[in-house]
Amino acid sequence: MKAVFFDFDGTLTHKGQNVWKRIWERLGYDIGKGSYYRQLYKNYMDNKITHQQWCDLTCEAFMKRGMTRQMLKEVASEIQLLGGVRRTFIKLKRQGFKIFIVSGNIIEVIEDVIGSAVNNVDVLMANVFVFDDEGKLTRIAGTSYDFEGKAKFIEEFKTKTNSNANDLYFVGNGGNDEWAYLSGCHTICINPDGANFEDNTKWHAVVDNVTDLEQIMPFINAEQDQEIEND
Ligand SMILES: [Mg+2]
Repeated sequence: MKAVFFDFDGTLTHKGQNVWKRIWERLGYDIGKGSYYRQLYKNYMDNKITHQQWCDLTCEAFMKRGMTRQMLKEVASEIQLLGGVRRTFIKLKRQGFKIFIVSGNIIEVIEDVIGSAVNNVDVLMANVFVFDDEGKLTRIAGTSYDFEGKAKFIEEFKTKTNSNANDLYFVGNGGNDEWAYLSGCHTICINPDGANFEDNTKWHAVVDNVTDLEQIMPFINAEQDQEIEND
């Protein structure tokens, strides 16, 4: 089976629009050096807390400042999608690719931002914000498919569908996408932001200044053409 796995933040959206950061800021928290926000990130990276603990502690801080669904919607409305997302998804589908979004963002935000393009997505994996009847945040259910988990997701798909790694592509932009190559798939880095894009073990292609997602198509097609030639 052929598939393309997309990251969301900075991959399908314009550079530098981190949703998590925006929520912390909107709630009045400091996100600079030495802030609790940065400390939690560091604790996770140092394996001092699990991903779910990171989500729980974040949720606690958000609840303390009265985080609501309305606020999440407002943050989502500020996020700009790249051009051509729906068009590119449709083209990929026509070429027989399944489309996945494997993100460390929040399901509801992704759905709001990508709009009708969601209909072309086979599976959307991300964190879930749970709200009560009054729209107040009560829980954050963490995804197990961020960071190393992105590679795990692709590997599980590969095994389940008995796919060839050569037919699988990952498109990402940041440091949390750097494990994807471990699954053996092709990796395309777009608008790099914190990713070590010069490491060609981790990233097989780099596309900068992407304003329209269709700019990735030559990289996917070129590889396929090569395969045909090699056959
Ligand atoms: Mg990203």
